[in-house]
Amino acid sequence: MDITFDCESLKQEVKKALEKNDQGGAVAMIQKYLDKVNNTPQNIAITGETGSGKSTFVNAFRGISNNDNGSAPTGCVETTLEATPYHHPNYPNVILWDLPGIGSTNFPADKYLQSAGFKDFDFFIIISDTRFRENDVMLALEIQKLGKKFYFVCSKIDNDLQAEERSQSEFSAENTLARIRQNCVRSLEQQRIESPQVFVLSSFELQKHDFPLLHKTLERELPEHKRYALLMAMPSINREIIKKKKEAFQAQIKYYATLSAAVAGVPLPGLSFAVDIGLLVTVVTQYVVGFGLDIPSLQRLANSTGVSFKDLIAVKKSPLAATAVTAGLMLSLLGQCVGITAMVVAQEWCRWIPILRILLARKCCFITTCRGLTYFLDMLADDAHRVFKQALCLNTSV
Ligand code: GDP
Ligand code: MG
Repeated sequence: MDITFDCESLKQEVKKALEKNDQGGAVAMIQKYLDKVNNTPQNIAITGETGSGKSTFVNAFRGISNNDNGSAPTGCVETTLEATPYHHPNYPNVILWDLPGIGSTNFPADKYLQSAGFKDFDFFIIISDTRFRENDVMLALEIQKLGKKFYFVCSKIDNDLQAEERSQSEFSAENTLARIRQNCVRSLEQQRIESPQVFVLSSFELQKHDFPLLHKTLERELPEHKRYALLMAMPSINREIIKKKKEAFQAQIKYYATLSAAVAGVPLPGLSFAVDIGLLVTVVTQYVVGFGLDIPSLQRLANSTGVSFKDLIAVKKSPLAATAVTAGLMLSLLGQCVGITAMVVAQEWCRWIPILRILLARKCCFITTCRGLTYFLDMLADDAHRVFKQALCLNTSV
């Protein structure tokens, strides 16, 4: 893996090549850039004591309920001494590693990390359902020595909130969460961990509490090419994550438009339009999957939330969600996109005027692709809001 890859310098190279009108060079670099951000592997280690909720967190992160096929086994006595990889169902390059319970091995923290193959992990999440103990702290210190990042997750917060609500006459969820967070931070600081990053959450309700904050923190601290894979793999369970996904997709539109414009410049009448549609199908399918609006993701969402598949799709407005994205569907929808029809006609027409053909075809193809993708992206992001509000049984007016 090329860890020295720098997205920003590659983007600058693309810009320079386009300024110099070096279409071929720009296209090659754009392809390299898109490949890299789309396919960079991400290895996330989930560790903590046995019973702390590691496997449940692995499942929740992958949008899978504990009973689904392919879920990490939960609630059982720890038997394995091996780290077990669980690939994200839509983004197999994002791998969550369910590590053995720290207390379940006889290894000291450094040996534990070696046995788990620590070198390959991008960062560690250390989970506890009570306070963080000596084992957690020893492990964090070893991870620190390796120059890797770690985050503390205080799990099963739903239990704590419920217990507190029963016992307190003036219950405030916010105050309870703040107090638990502060207690965790203080106890870790007392055990020699400087400025620990602690997130309180429930794997049964990832949309609540600190999970969105955990995502924000990871996003801030990971290099750009790692951020994209993680963002896409994040369950689209709150407004902020859906917005971030939309922004990430939006930022790539100009690259895809440049790719399709380069193809439009090839003087083969009739071919480039077909290829453009192929590109649109590929990219829009990425949007559908990224927002979790494909059929398998929606089925998993139905299983994990208990809201039926039928009810989930009842609120969608776009014909692109919960279906296979095909060239035919794409063409019929493009016709509804303001300005696209004229652009497509101009693009086809100008292919037959030799001098203008390449320049105009490129320009038209660039604009058609930009407008088309923006139109589909808006449509799908709105649907993502509707479907996930429905999944959380909220008001679905967006
Ligand atoms: P592991 O041994 O660390 O992998 O822990 P598991 O994921 O198997 O979880 C142990 C038990 O805690 C199981 O019965 C889970 O259902 C339960 N559990 C895990 N996470 C949560 C949570 O966020 N809230 C509640 N209420 N229970 C949880
Ligand atoms: Mg487990």
